[in-house]
Amino acid sequence: MNHSCNVIRDLLPLYVENMVSEETRLLVEKHLAGCADCQKQLAAMQAPQKLPADTITAPLRKLKGRLFWQRIEVIFLTAALILAFAITGVAYLTAPEYLPYSDELLSFHACEDGTTFITFGEEVAGYDLSSYSTQDGSGYVCHITAWNNLWSSYIAKSNTQSAVLKPEGNQTITVYYYVDGAEEDTLIFGRDLHADGGIVTLPRLVLAYYFLIAAALAAVLAMLWFVFRQHDKIRNIVEKTLLLPVSYLVGHLCIKGFKTSSYAAQRDFFAILLVMMPIYCVFLLAINLLRKYRAKRQARF
Ligand SMILES: [Zn+2]
Repeated sequence: MNHSCNVIRDLLPLYVENMVSEETRLLVEKHLAGCADCQKQLAAMQAPQKLPADTITAPLRKLKGRLFWQRIEVIFLTAALILAFAITGVAYLTAPEYLPYSDELLSFHACEDGTTFITFGEEVAGYDLSSYSTQDGSGYVCHITAWNNLWSSYIAKSNTQSAVLKPEGNQTITVYYYVDGAEEDTLIFGRDLHADGGIVTLPRLVLAYYFLIAAALAAVLAMLWFVFRQHDKIRNIVEKTLLLPVSYLVGHLCIKGFKTSSYAAQRDFFAILLVMMPIYCVFLLAINLLRKYRAKRQARF
């Protein structure tokens, strides 16, 4: 490398960027034509820049991506938990509290065409009603109960409602009032069709059966999990399936506590299904995060 090479190399960066005067350009090109070393130097400068930084940041970016997904999972986990709590809260606030019968609870108004209106007192937030015709067709029997709930008591008062009873032909109307825990239904309107003995409307037990089915399923799947605990693939499938009945059982505890009988079985069942979904998500995400946390700890040691 001679003296002029040094001068040319000082100029090369400017030459590459086209930031030299015509005179300098000619000078550089004239030198390059006769100097292989400087030609090599120029070629190196003109070659597309490799990004050495990339090789350093790749694992870092991977880690960042993993942390990002982990954070997303934590956010979803929190959201699912909040949702489960919210559904449980709403179910608790709207759970019917059955009102014992009193004269102010409901009143009757019979029209000439045989239709009878039932008007409910102020404390009533809702009612359940089932009706049927007697076997001989002369009577129209109605079983009714009224309830209030915390939502209506403290948050938003529901309007006083009324119900309409419409018997066919000349049927006479008989209305019984039932309430949780009462020994028998109370006759509150019409003639007693069960003069010889009491009649009682029983709460439905369907939730108890569902609870037992879910518990049995969970037990069977737990056994399968134990049997296949060495086979990662099968164990994972069994695990995800097992969490379904477990979520149902937890959902039942959220909505009904340890009670299984219900006058509002359909409402309770839907509430359980609704709360079961976020609970299932919480289980899946929690297991996933726990597994990652464990793997990270094992990798550290
Ligand atoms: Zn040179």
